Amino acid sequence: MARDIAAPGRTKEILEHHGFSFKKSLGQNFLIDRNILEKIVLTSKAGAEDGVIEIGPGIGGLTEHFAKAAKQVEAFEIDGRLLPVLEETMAPCKNVRIWNEDILNVDIRRVLSENFKNVQDIIVTGNLPYYVTTPIIMNLLEQRLPISRMVFMMQKEVAERLAAEPGSKDYGSLSIAAQYFADPVKTMVVPKTVFIPKPNVDSAVVRFEIRDTPPVEVEDEAFFFRVIKAAFAQRRKTIWNNLQHNLTGRDRREELAAALQEAGIDSGRRGETLTMQEFARLSTFLKRHLH
Ligand code: SAM
Repeated sequence: MARDIAAPGRTKEILEHHGFSFKKSLGQNFLIDRNILEKIVLTSKAGAEDGVIEIGPGIGGLTEHFAKAAKQVEAFEIDGRLLPVLEETMAPCKNVRIWNEDILNVDIRRVLSENFKNVQDIIVTGNLPYYVTTPIIMNLLEQRLPISRMVFMMQKEVAERLAAEPGSKDYGSLSIAAQYFADPVKTMVVPKTVFIPKPNVDSAVVRFEIRDTPPVEVEDEAFFFRVIKAAFAQRRKTIWNNLQHNLTGRDRREELAAALQEAGIDSGRRGETLTMQEFARLSTFLKRHLH
């Protein structure tokens, strides 16, 4: 039986054979630890009837494991130099298709409807390139795709922000946005040493169970997110100062005060202490007063 693609010796052979040089600008840090790859697949709960979308297969270390666990894998790799490599490494995996595309330009909804007609759950996964982790995640969540869950490797620091609770130092607009669409849980911390080349920071795996409906009801989603963004504009400032400076303007102070009062939120609090429910209430009352 062939060795795993991610076995350190095999990875080095593949890279040397193809004369591959890493591009830092594309966040190329390949995983060389079979245990971690297996854990990612387990975390994803991928089963024999499921379809998987993979972002950034690299030389196929993770792809190979998903190919074994799932029915079908559609993998999107931006770097054309990896195509001949993947053609070779993925030759035994007949249920894998590689697309040479930037994931941010892919119409995923269309990919799903055209390619995953006969699958049970759809899972999106990847050891994400660090330079675009948050845009990729938010772009997928905001599209409200018909997927069950996402499992991603990312910088530990971003993982902590995504899963943060109100009142913690990591809690911010990213936490609320992610938790509005999904239930993100940090499932594993991964040391730098299991990648080549070794990144500067530790990593973590986050699983997002996609919600059918958001945990709070808001009348105007775009406005709700504007309020949150404004509330966190300057972390050390109070909700009053942040909203006045970044949303309502000085001439609508009365309306701001009324909305805060009706929502039951003390104007001296900081944004980082407000729960998603409080932001939802606040945005509802603010909208009523401002319009
Ligand atoms: N999955 C492999 C692994 O775990 O060893 C490689 C992971 S590496 C951290 C990230 C991969 O994403 C690289 O292969 C990189 O070329 C690719 N990539 C970077 N930006 C991308 C984008 N916008 N769309 C698709 N792939 C991208």
